[in-house]
Amino acid sequence: MIKRKSFIITLSIIILASILYIIFSLNKLTVPNTSSNINSKNGILELSNWDFNKTGYTALSGQWKFYWKQLLSPNDLITSSHVPSYIDMPTAWNKYNKNYDANGYATYSLNIKLNSKYKNTLLGISVPSMLSSYKLWVNGSLFSSNGVVGTTSSTEIPKSVPITSYFMNNSEQVNLVLQVSNHNFRDGGIRDKIYLGTESQMMSKREASIALNFFYFGVLLITGLYHLWLYFFKTEDSYKLYIGALCIIISLRALFVGNSFFLSLYSNLTYGLDFKLEYITFYAAAYFMLGYMCVVFKENSSKIINKVCKLFCSVFIVSTIFISPLLASKLLIIFQIFTLFMIIYAAFVILKTFYIKKKGFIIIIIGCFATIIIGSMSLLHYIGIKNINNYSLLGAFIFMLLDSFILAMKQSKACIKVEYLSKEKEQYLLAEKLREASFLLNSTLNLDEVLDKLLKGLKELVPYDSASFFMEENNHFNITAAYGFKNTDEIYKICINKDDDKLFKEIYETNTALLVSNVKNDPRFTHYIGLTNIESWMGIPIIFKNKIIGILTLDSIKKDIYSSYHCDVALSFAFHAGMAVENAKLHGRTKQLACIDPLTNLYNRRSFIELANISFNNAKASLEPISSIMIDIDDFKKINDNLGHHTGDLVLKRLSKVCLENLSDNHILGRFGGEEFIVLLPGTSFKEAELIGENLRSAIENNPLIVRKSDSITITSSLGVASLTPTVQDIDFLFISADKAMYRAKALGKNKVMSIDLDCNDAKKL
Ligand code: GH3
Ligand code: MG
Ligand code: MG
Repeated sequence: MIKRKSFIITLSIIILASILYIIFSLNKLTVPNTSSNINSKNGILELSNWDFNKTGYTALSGQWKFYWKQLLSPNDLITSSHVPSYIDMPTAWNKYNKNYDANGYATYSLNIKLNSKYKNTLLGISVPSMLSSYKLWVNGSLFSSNGVVGTTSSTEIPKSVPITSYFMNNSEQVNLVLQVSNHNFRDGGIRDKIYLGTESQMMSKREASIALNFFYFGVLLITGLYHLWLYFFKTEDSYKLYIGALCIIISLRALFVGNSFFLSLYSNLTYGLDFKLEYITFYAAAYFMLGYMCVVFKENSSKIINKVCKLFCSVFIVSTIFISPLLASKLLIIFQIFTLFMIIYAAFVILKTFYIKKKGFIIIIIGCFATIIIGSMSLLHYIGIKNINNYSLLGAFIFMLLDSFILAMKQSKACIKVEYLSKEKEQYLLAEKLREASFLLNSTLNLDEVLDKLLKGLKELVPYDSASFFMEENNHFNITAAYGFKNTDEIYKICINKDDDKLFKEIYETNTALLVSNVKNDPRFTHYIGLTNIESWMGIPIIFKNKIIGILTLDSIKKDIYSSYHCDVALSFAFHAGMAVENAKLHGRTKQLACIDPLTNLYNRRSFIELANISFNNAKASLEPISSIMIDIDDFKKINDNLGHHTGDLVLKRLSKVCLENLSDNHILGRFGGEEFIVLLPGTSFKEAELIGENLRSAIENNPLIVRKSDSITITSSLGVASLTPTVQDIDFLFISADKAMYRAKALGKNKVMSIDLDCNDAKKL
């Protein structure tokens, strides 16, 4: 991971460094080496010592001959004498001399003395757009033109497309004659430099400028769209909207302002569109910059000023669309003053934010950066540093890079946080489910119920198609609960010897859960393979006090369904399950101790009465018959006295066994007292009970206790039978009746069955 990150950082640095290198190289091609620039004097530019190949191309700056209010052709200048004045190039004539009105026309002329080396070579001239139309001759031949030069606004057709063209230089002198007229702009004349160089230099200059502008256009446009899309999907982050819009506006400026290559492709467009686009994008950039500031520096900027400024920008944007280029160019000055105010205001807000809270450091830096860009773009461009557009684009490019990096960082951090929170929530929900499951497991002490809840509760947490619980007993695992099987009877027959089964052995040895993602191809898988059609399997040890008390197995018909997450969940669940199973087991044992007579293993009197009560009430409610038989061993005291208490105990055990063998599953047998036993016969009528009683009596008599090989003790008993009748309405009365009947059997000579039918005559005898 760290390796990958450092690779990405290194790659980013290399790419960015290369891009910056290319940008600077291209930028260098678009500007001449100004330090060695030669200015013309009195309309003559002395370049005889200038070696283009060594020093590069040059600007044709300095004093040009100037013929105000005259449109002269090269021929006119040769044939008749005209007295020239001089003008410094490049300057708008109205700025150079107040006597020259912005609306007017003039002819410029320059003689360039070249090094003889450049005779008969192809040279190039880069001609900027002029205000507002021009016609240029080189060595007497028409070289380039923009629109139609005219002496009045009706005869002039303005146009502003920069042109780079080439000519074959036949002599050591180059003569330039330039006619310019202006009736359509705030200023008149030439504001940008004209350059002269070799063909390849001028071509490179043009191509570098186009390449740079398209590079900025592409990069800023994509970044802008990306920000807008980010905003589209999360409209709360309105700063992304402003950044996005700002990027797109600056990208459009890259296309329209400066080189204007794009516009030159559509040279037939109405005059002034490029100016208007330049102004509108400038106003719009200011608008979005303000919007950005309002969001980022919300607390420290004035809402009213923000609104007023935005309104101001909006008015300028809309009005520029409709007014003439001349008026638009005049109004620009007002906006420039406003921009100055905005920069001061922005600086104030940024400083205030910086001092109040140092927290949003990065945001402040971005804010500063953006403000510098917008400021530099606006003012420096118009006060004459013509190449500033390139630098402001570079600034915007770096700003967007920085912003993209911060955005990537922020988004990723937010994603990580969301992931962390959702994981935390997942954990919380899981803990909640586990708590619920644990509560459910502990809501009963009945082992069967616990196991049932365990299997069903786990299904809520871990998916499975069938599950079983194997209880450990002397190194063997018996299925004590199963869920989701078709053939449950077969399943319950399964008993696994820990040492024979590799999976169980592994769980036993590792004390942790085991996953099998492809059951059919796993050689360890042997048990109940034929009973289900499973593909994935998971075995979870149920541990209590560091001892495996059982193993829970989950089966799924889907391949590779279980992950370590399921494993962890199941193990957490198993922790609660272990405790619940052990509690239920302990409770079962305690309950047995409390309810079962330890000598005969029959219900003791208390638990018998409890059970009998339930059956009795059920019988009463469902109008079903129910009967009871009281059994008392005859002359038991004598057995004790003659053969000892131990033999007496054996007799009690023997009788219990015989009775159980002769009763059905639904009959309840209990030890009522010393040598007295009681049977409850649900669903049994009085007559049937009499038969059962007789059957018991003879079975007891015919199953003597074998003491030694030859010695046996015949046991006889007296039995009393009673049944639920309309007279017998509570269980005590039923027992008392059976007891009375039993005593009658004693009285009548023992080893007898007597019955009391309380609704017949017998009742009267009681
Ligand atoms: P009857 O035929 O009238 O029922 O006479 P009986 O001797 O069976 O009845 P009795 O009530 O006189 O004697 C019951 C004896 O059972 C008294 C008591 O010592 C003995 N006994 C009670 N519980 C146990 C026991 O758990 N083990 C043994 N060995 N004797 C017991
Ligand atoms: Mg007795
Ligand atoms: Mg007795």
